[in-house]
Amino acid sequence: MNIIICAKVIPASSVTIEINPATKCMVRKGVPHELDPAAACALEEGLRLTEKHGGAVTVITMGIGDATIGIRNALAMGAANAIHILDDALAGSDALGTAKALAAAIKKESFDLVICAAESSDSYSGIVPGQLAQLLGLSPLTFAKEIAVEAKKITIKRQTESGYDLVEAEMPALVTVASGINEPRYPQLKGIMAAKKKEIKQWTAADLGLGPDQVGASGAKEKVLAIGRPAARKAGKVITDEGDGGKQVADFLAELKVI
Ligand SMILES: Cc1cc2nc3c(=O)[nH]c(=O)nc-3n(C[C@H](O)[C@H](O)[C@H](O)COP(=O)(O)OP(=O)(O)OC[C@H]3O[C@@H](n4cnc5c(N)ncnc54)[C@H](O)[C@@H]3O)c2cc1C
Repeated sequence: MNIIICAKVIPASSVTIEINPATKCMVRKGVPHELDPAAACALEEGLRLTEKHGGAVTVITMGIGDATIGIRNALAMGAANAIHILDDALAGSDALGTAKALAAAIKKESFDLVICAAESSDSYSGIVPGQLAQLLGLSPLTFAKEIAVEAKKITIKRQTESGYDLVEAEMPALVTVASGINEPRYPQLKGIMAAKKKEIKQWTAADLGLGPDQVGASGAKEKVLAIGRPAARKAGKVITDEGDGGKQVADFLAELKVI
């Protein structure tokens, strides 16, 4: 079973995110990057499936040169090979542009299953996987908290507010995994050494047959109009218990009409 993992590589959690006021986009170039923890869960799920059923995992990312560190991390975890869609012409791509580039690269591969995280941890629009499924003509199975494969059939437990739905489809299919589906493994020294020798294929937009009307800033139909900070929260009320703490809390909640 060949599995493709769409893994975003994002600014490291230690980075204070800055927004370019002119483009209103996140400043990504030159900041430390890491494999998105949500993508690591998708990869872990793919690795577990191939360990059980055989086959190989390919990781694909669209990102700038700084993304290589995250790709190597994915290879060190156990992915067999990787694809890096890397081209300055892709800068400013919106979600659909991203999905088009990923779909064009995936079409070059032979695969049974595509796994994405339900949302990335930096932009988290949660739109890319649905668009990708549409462009690839695959059944989308979303918010999986458990995945099982039997012959050509895939079944997921789809997380819901009250429990889960059982959803099944014929493969090839696309699955998005819910956060917390698993605890991703840490790369071991052997894996880190092996990762250095594994292939990272690189594609440009032109290699994928994509022009400026489809990807990059000129192809983006989504525009970021404004960016703002959430309103500052009011300071809380501190209640000092001098024997009547309980009454004060009750009075405060009554004032708020909570009780
Ligand atoms: C006007 C505009 C300009 C932008 N310019 C840039 C830019 O220059 N550079 C930039 O990096 N972003 C840019 N973005 C953000 C970019 O569009 C989104 O990061 C991208 O579309 C993915 O959206 P998301 O992170 O919300 O994905 P989600 O839909 O939340 O992602 C869900 C899952 O889809 C898969 N996925 C998503 N993105 C990728 C990826 N890149 N590679 C592999 N798998 C992926 C992963 O499995 C991910 O977990 C721009 C956005 C807008 C609106």
